[in-house]
Amino acid sequence: MKAAPFCYHRPGTVAEAVETLAAFGDGAKVLAGGQSLVPLMALRLARAEHLVDLGRIAALRYVRGAADSVAVGAMTVQAAAGRDPVIAASVPLLARAIPFIGHFQVRNRGTVGGSCAHADPSAEIPAVAVTLDAELEASGRGRPRLIPAAKFFTSTFTTSLEPDEVLTALHFPVWPGRSGFAVREFARRRGDFAVAGAVCAVTLGQGERIERVAIGLLGLGAVPLRAAAAERAATGTAAGDLDVTEIGHLAVADTDPPDDVHATPGYRRRVGVAMAARALTAALEEAAHG
Ligand SMILES: Cc1cc2nc3c(=O)[nH]c(=O)nc-3n(C[C@H](O)[C@H](O)[C@H](O)COP(=O)(O)OP(=O)(O)OC[C@H]3O[C@@H](n4cnc5c(N)ncnc54)[C@H](O)[C@@H]3O)c2cc1C
Repeated sequence: MKAAPFCYHRPGTVAEAVETLAAFGDGAKVLAGGQSLVPLMALRLARAEHLVDLGRIAALRYVRGAADSVAVGAMTVQAAAGRDPVIAASVPLLARAIPFIGHFQVRNRGTVGGSCAHADPSAEIPAVAVTLDAELEASGRGRPRLIPAAKFFTSTFTTSLEPDEVLTALHFPVWPGRSGFAVREFARRRGDFAVAGAVCAVTLGQGERIERVAIGLLGLGAVPLRAAAAERAATGTAAGDLDVTEIGHLAVADTDPPDDVHATPGYRRRVGVAMAARALTAALEEAAHG
């Protein structure tokens, strides 16, 4: 099958892209790397009368490190972000999540912003954004605004972006101190979307106590989730006394995973327990020993 006919626009600036989106309203869609949108259009599961290709807007492709945060332009290709030295040093969780995305062909075209705007609940970059409390920057006809990741993802394939807004950047906080980071997920075949997974960041303080921990879950709900009860239970505990399996059970306790051809909710939860426990174990190991 082929996509339904559409008009193609290739703006040179974000302002031009916003004007084009505003002019055509619901009939227009942003095109980034095309790795999700183009197959959906070819299968006629998505339709757009106007495609607004951001590919020419070089100003949306960058990685900028500051003392306490790293900004990643929305059109930064996933593979470039995955090998960026600033991201590797300052936001290791993002660098570690990217190799789990599809295949290298997908990562060479797919963008960091496109992954978030697409909002697949099994996607890795949205889970990292929610776990690290990243902020997503959007530009529309008004002033640019910063949206906390927890408010950006509203449901499956749905975000709080307005129809005339372009996602322009992601701002990731840097975790200082003795911190460790890990991603664990299970997929039926290499390159497939995860059935379920967990991403984890942890900081150790005095006496090897867990000073700060964030656990994110993917594939276990309509949006990427934070395991708040598990985080509360782990915080303040000495790393050696922690029962990671118990934390894993707490992490998935309140989840409502999808029931689809890939897995039942019960199976996703079981996988989630194991992935959360393994991600936490690996992150603690790194925080303790580097
Ligand atoms: C075989 C295959 C396997 C894959 N496996 C995985 C996987 O395991 N994990 C994973 O996370 N992803 C996976 N993907 C999806 C991939 O990561 C996509 O790159 C990503 O979901 C979308 O990014 P994109 O840049 O290609 O966006 P596009 O496909 O161009 O756009 C996706 C959606 O986001 C909107 N959009 C894109 N950018 C913006 C923006 N800046 N502002 C506003 N709206 C925007 C578009 O309008 C569209 O609705 C896979 C894809 C394929 C084809």
